[in-house]
Amino acid sequence: MASHAVTSGQKPHVVCIPFPAQGHINPMLKVAKLLYARGFHVTFVNTNYNHNRLIRSRGPNSLDGLPSFRFESIPDGLPEENKDVMQDVPTLCESTMKNCLAPFKELLRRINTTKDVPPVSCIVSDGVMSFTLDAAEELGVPDVLFWTPSACGFLAYLHFYRFIEKGLSPIKDESSLDTKINWIPSMKNLGLKDIPSFIRATNTEDIMLNFFVHEADRAKRASAIILNTFDSLEHDVVRSIQSIIPQVYTIGPLHLFVNRDIDEESDIGQIGTNMWREEMECLDWLDTKSPNSVVYVNFGSITVMSAKQLVEFAWGLAATKKDCLWVIRPDLVAGDVPMLPPDFLIETANRRMLASWCPQEKVLSHPAVGGFLTHSGWNSTLESLSGGVPMVCWPFFAEQQTNCKYCCDEWEVGMEIGGDVRREEVEELVRELMDGDKGKKMRQKAEEWQRLAEEATKPIYGSSELNFQMVVDKVLLGE
Ligand code: UDP
Repeated sequence: MASHAVTSGQKPHVVCIPFPAQGHINPMLKVAKLLYARGFHVTFVNTNYNHNRLIRSRGPNSLDGLPSFRFESIPDGLPEENKDVMQDVPTLCESTMKNCLAPFKELLRRINTTKDVPPVSCIVSDGVMSFTLDAAEELGVPDVLFWTPSACGFLAYLHFYRFIEKGLSPIKDESSLDTKINWIPSMKNLGLKDIPSFIRATNTEDIMLNFFVHEADRAKRASAIILNTFDSLEHDVVRSIQSIIPQVYTIGPLHLFVNRDIDEESDIGQIGTNMWREEMECLDWLDTKSPNSVVYVNFGSITVMSAKQLVEFAWGLAATKKDCLWVIRPDLVAGDVPMLPPDFLIETANRRMLASWCPQEKVLSHPAVGGFLTHSGWNSTLESLSGGVPMVCWPFFAEQQTNCKYCCDEWEVGMEIGGDVRREEVEELVRELMDGDKGKKMRQKAEEWQRLAEEATKPIYGSSELNFQMVVDKVLLGE
């Protein structure tokens, strides 16, 4: 393969551009750090909105970067007054797709005319920011798409157009969610309800349905596609994807690579992109607890629930009498401040810790954590598997439904809570998770996945290690 604009003596220059949501920015930052550690000059591109938000939450110098690790930003195309809608995913998707190409091209032009900065030689962009392919083709550089969902989620997105062809989406009514889906190669025993939630569109104009059909179709044009998963976990699904798009590589779990290759105390290790302050006190609290004794509860960065659902979770958790670390984002409850019942706070005072945001990777690898009540976001799922922690799953949207299904049936590390959560069910499942026979089996299985995840990221021979090196050498460096 030809070399891309890298002349001798110059560093290769990668532009990394995540979709502007926490669960996409975090794994992209990991890829960026790993490339930096392998000698790349990195430009990391946020949206203006997130750039400013990160500076507000992390301090004025937090995005100063390093001489060879620079932060830039481009507008997301949304009007300023609309900016309190982090959870309005369709609006954000539509806007980035329609409005980001021009400012991105302009940014590339500016970088390439800046003195003392090596010319852009490759792009790594989020899978759902495929407008970058046009910019990369114009510049004549490779563009690696990083699809941040699970491979099973990605495979389902690749088949979205067929659901439309078959008349399965838009859906007719709720009962059609029980329809069996047995025609996606490698995917077994799925129902329509297990397919990423955007398939539940009710009309042909639905933004997310069309968005994923569009983005999945364009994925074929990528120089390569990388997935934050590992081969032994999603082997058959990955092969099924490769029969559609051969240039797909599993390179996860990324956080295990970062923990291995990047010193946390170093300048690059200190760069972070969490939009909320991580409350490190959670770890001190966990230090006081015995192994596998704490239920960890966290629904990620986007999930919203009703005030009633929050109360059901609270009383369900209280009834288990278990120690509990519960992270409640300030915007977790739709349109309201999350309020826990005062009696719950009194009753559980000695056995719970509440926080707004925590260092989740560290929490999930802490020996005190015995189970995770999660929304089944892909990063959370992978961090849980890598920590050997079994889950109770309450999927919210997107491919979380598919992740939940795989956790429960394929990987045998999860149990699902019904969508309209009831306190009795929370109590029963969390008790089983922490103390029951099924919970014990799930923990053993999770520990097995933990071992396989570590194997995948082993130096030299790990499958993800080999794939990452291959993408770097053959695709990004064009050697
Ligand atoms: N996260 C964190 N602290 C928290 C909650 C989440 O650091 O209190 C991180 C978590 O480790 C993961 C990301 O935020 O990397 C959430 O991504 P995920 O795919 O699980 O869910 P999403 O937020 O996209 O729904």
